[in-house]
Amino acid sequence: MESFFSHGAHEADASEIQKITIDALTMISVSLRFYEELNDFLAPRRRKTRFLKQLKEAPSVKDLIESCGVPHTEVDLILVNGISVSFDYRVSHGDDVSVYPVFESLDIGGLTRLQARPLRNLRFVADSHLGTLTRRMRLLGFDVVFDRTATQNAVVEMMLGENRVILTRNRGLLKQKIIQRGYCLHSDDPKHQTLEVIHRFDLVEALAPFTRCVRCNAFVEPVVKVDVLGSLKAKTREFYDTFTHCSHCGQVYWRGAHTKSLEEFITWIKKETKSW
Ligand SMILES: [Zn+2]
Repeated sequence: MESFFSHGAHEADASEIQKITIDALTMISVSLRFYEELNDFLAPRRRKTRFLKQLKEAPSVKDLIESCGVPHTEVDLILVNGISVSFDYRVSHGDDVSVYPVFESLDIGGLTRLQARPLRNLRFVADSHLGTLTRRMRLLGFDVVFDRTATQNAVVEMMLGENRVILTRNRGLLKQKIIQRGYCLHSDDPKHQTLEVIHRFDLVEALAPFTRCVRCNAFVEPVVKVDVLGSLKAKTREFYDTFTHCSHCGQVYWRGAHTKSLEEFITWIKKETKSW
């Protein structure tokens, strides 16, 4: 009776099996667990659970984490077999890797904290898609530079040159090794994005609404009405007496019916952040 497989096919199968066995023996197996909001970056099946990765060669833990979709700028603490390590640590077979996001309130003194601590007066650079977030952040008094024509390289240059934190939704941008300070927004809604940034960088105490020009990011200053009469419409001239203006771009500001939605936004932010 003729065999289902030819003799040649049997030989091919055997060598294939041998190859797979050798590969399996030389593969490195590492277990990973990501915590808190870092799970948002993972494929659903890998969220909030420990999972195995089989690797052909030993990468740095930074590359391993980023291969799972998590930008290194999001990570503040890595424990390998219970010991904190830096991004350069090269993983080896059997390692248990635990990856934690930036803790704003948890004391991890003594362990290797991977991110520089937030500066008190944080300055940001938003990528070219975040115009609405930029305006909302400026409204709250935060220093955010933005150029809708800026390339990714230009954004990186602004981060380096002016020690700014990059705000983006582009994970790829934050994976570049040169990026030290960046935050990848989780939400696509500018209102919630603003809340995220305040939370992530612990900025509740730094809120200073209506102190910065929404248009150009410079500070605004009080100005006497007579000095801005020329740029006011008749109704504004009639009903309003208190003004600020931006000495950089000349924009004049006053609080009135047109700022109602902005006031509501500020009230919402204060309410949401009250218990933080
Ligand atoms: Zn201005």
